[in-house]
Amino acid sequence: MSFDIASIRLEFPLLAKEVNGYPLAYLDSAATAQKPQAVLNAETYFYQHEYAAVHRGIHTLSSNATTRMENIRTQVARFLHATSSEEIVFVKGATEAINLVAQSWGDSQLKPGDNIIITEMEHHSNIVPWQMLAKRINAELRYIPLTSSGALDVRCLSSLVDSRTRLLAITHVSNVLGTINSVKKIISQAKALGIVTLIDGAQAIMHDTVDVQDLDCDFYVFSGHKIYGPSGIGILYGRKEILELMPPWEGGGSMISTVSLSEGTTYTTAPWVFEAGSPNIGSIIGLGAALQWVSDLGMDSIFQREKKLMSYALNKLSDVPDIIIYSPPQAIGVLAFNLGSHHAFDVGSFLDQYGIAIRTGHHCAMPLMKHYGVSSMCRASLVLYNTEDEVDRLASSLMRIHHLLS
Ligand SMILES: *Cc1c(COP(=O)(O)O)cnc(C)c1O
Repeated sequence: MSFDIASIRLEFPLLAKEVNGYPLAYLDSAATAQKPQAVLNAETYFYQHEYAAVHRGIHTLSSNATTRMENIRTQVARFLHATSSEEIVFVKGATEAINLVAQSWGDSQLKPGDNIIITEMEHHSNIVPWQMLAKRINAELRYIPLTSSGALDVRCLSSLVDSRTRLLAITHVSNVLGTINSVKKIISQAKALGIVTLIDGAQAIMHDTVDVQDLDCDFYVFSGHKIYGPSGIGILYGRKEILELMPPWEGGGSMISTVSLSEGTTYTTAPWVFEAGSPNIGSIIGLGAALQWVSDLGMDSIFQREKKLMSYALNKLSDVPDIIIYSPPQAIGVLAFNLGSHHAFDVGSFLDQYGIAIRTGHHCAMPLMKHYGVSSMCRASLVLYNTEDEVDRLASSLMRIHHLLS
C-alpha cells in the first residue's frame, strides 16, 4: 500500500504551522511525535462524555471507564502479540518501565557479584537505572561496544557473559543513529544461557511490527508519545511468569487486596500490583486511539514508506559539502550528522530560522558521543508524515549554512 502523505498530514493540525515565516518542517519526531486528530478527539471525547475514576466505583461511568481501560490493555497486548493482557503494565513511559524492572526485578533477583550487560549505544534511560541498581546491589555493569560503522559488536558478547550474568538490556533501534539491532538473535543467545532480557523499544515501536513472542524477550518497553499518542503514558510488557515473581515497587491505592493497620497489607496480582495510584486514564484512552491509528495504516506499510524516505534522505544529504553522516545505510527513523566542524547547536539554530526543527546535542546518549569523539550531533527524524520536499529543504538549507559559516 502506498500512502497519500498529503492527506495524512492534514490529520496532524500542528504540521500546518508556520515557524519563523516558513512552513514548519518537523524533523524531531524521535524526541516526540505530533498527534493525529483521532488521538486528540478520543481524549477530548473521553473527558467530555465518559470521564470518571477507574477501579473505584460501581456507578455506570466508573465501571464504563474501567472497561475502556482494560480493553486498551487487551489492545496493547494484541499490538505487541503478547499472550495475555496480564502481561501489560501501564506506566508513565519507557523510562519508568525500566526503573520499575530495575527496582522490582533487580532488587529482588540480583545478588552481590552478579553482572548486567547493556550496550554503548543506550539511551540514558537504559543506562542510569542499571547503574543505580548495580550500586545498590554491588553488582557490575558491562557494555557491548560498537564497531567503527556504528553497529553493536556482538562478537564481544561471549567474552562479556559469564555464570554471574543475569540481565541483558539493549535498545531495539538506536535513538541517535537509527541502527536496527538484531535483537532476536541476541535474545536467543542470552536465553540459551539463562539470562533475562529487556528490550528498549522506544525507537522501534513506531516504525515496524513488534512481536514479543517472536522476539522471545522477557521485557519490552515503550512510550506512547513517540508513537503518535499522548505524553505521560507508556507500556511495560513482562512475560507473565516473570511478572508474577516480582514484588510491588510502589505502594498505594489500586495495587492492594486488603489493608490493615495491625496486620499489614496483602497485594493484588500482576499487572495491577505495579499500578499504584490513580492511572493516567485520559492518556490511556489516547494511546488506544494512537495504536488503532497506526494499525489502520498498517505497520508494514509504515516501515516500507519510512525506508524509502530514509534512503532518499541519505542520498540527498550526502551531496552536502563537508557533511559527516553517522547513521548506517540501513538506519530507520533518524539520520545523525554533523556539518564539518561546525557545532551542532549552530547548525540547528540556523535550520530553525528556516522553519526546520531538528534535534541537536548528545541525544541522551553521552557514551555514544564519546565513541565518535564528538560532544554533539544533529539528528533529523523522518517518519511517516515527513516528505521528500522537507528533505530537499533540509539539504538546501544545510548547503546555505555551510556557505554562510565557512
Ligand atoms: C525516548 C527514549 C527513551 C525514554 O523515553 P521516555 O518517554 O522519555 O521515558 C528511552 N529509550 C530510547 C531509545 C528513547 O528513544
